Amino acid sequence: MLTFSSYAKINWTLEVLGRRPDGYHELRTVLQMVDLADTLRFTPLERGIIIECDHPDVPTDERNLVWKAASLLLERAGEERGVRISITKRIPTAAGLGGGSSNAAVTLLALLQLWKIDLPWPELVKIAGRIGADVPFFLIGGTCLGVGRGDEVYPLAGVDARYLLLLNPGILVPTREVYARLPPELTNQTGVVKMPLSLELAYETVRRNDLPAGHGDAPEGAGREGSGRSFPAGLLRNDLESSVLPFHPTLAAAKVRLPDLGATAALMSGSGSTVFAIFDNDQVRRRAAATLLAEGWWVAPVRTISRNEYIDQIRLQPDPA
Ligand code: ATP
Repeated sequence: MLTFSSYAKINWTLEVLGRRPDGYHELRTVLQMVDLADTLRFTPLERGIIIECDHPDVPTDERNLVWKAASLLLERAGEERGVRISITKRIPTAAGLGGGSSNAAVTLLALLQLWKIDLPWPELVKIAGRIGADVPFFLIGGTCLGVGRGDEVYPLAGVDARYLLLLNPGILVPTREVYARLPPELTNQTGVVKMPLSLELAYETVRRNDLPAGHGDAPEGAGREGSGRSFPAGLLRNDLESSVLPFHPTLAAAKVRLPDLGATAALMSGSGSTVFAIFDNDQVRRRAAATLLAEGWWVAPVRTISRNEYIDQIRLQPDPA
């Protein structure tokens, strides 16, 4: 049996650049892996795919993204193989945290090893993109830029944030509805230039973190090593907020209130309804979490997961059990 953590993501930025002729929206997003995780256990079988899940809202048939991942690999391998996959859910579903997509990517990476399939990386990325736009990101992890539908993913220098708080009101916001409600000024943009990364974002991130002391206003002790590279708060942006927050006043009010609870910034993740807040230290975060929990919110303290941490755990070690 093999056991892996399947991590959630947040979006530091999500820009809608326009609506494409194929009906999808052209996006530019900076994705970040965080340490809230489901657990996936893989047991080899002679044939067939069996999925078990402890969450009542998650289907265990072919609608499950894990099932799609396993069956696409089976198709590619062209041989009789099987697997039992049990999912322990901790990532809220349909919450903008990419839980299903993460499960699918971990399944691809796990089954390559369990079934001893040799697949060139570009082919694996193509299979991931067929399962869902967020799946390719979860093959890489850490901090990434996503363009296209968000499925064309490029690794970025890792952002580090130790004191994040996820906040979810338990409202289900269907992704399709969110995109349908986008204002025309976002969807009607023409002549979109597909810049890999806005210059402003690239410049700010480097200026604040990498320049030696005395240049710009790089904070004291800001590291060149991965840790300590914070995301510039002024550049946090999610274009989808405009088609979610006005329809969910409780969520909008909570986002506005988070700075009063000590957060330095707060933003909706993906298509919602999860909001993440950034804190400077654990003490203030704990106090804010306790207040929100007492009011009935689902909250989860999380930190960022670097690409190396993710790759190290996914480089599969046989489970002693
Ligand atoms: P995204 O941000 O990529 O839109 P999300 O976090 O909003 O994703 P998911 O948690 O991935 O949403 O789940 C969306 C829907 O997909 C759920 O309502 C569920 O029915 C279905 N689903 C299929 N497979 C899974 C899975 N393994 N885990 C969770 N949900 C799944």
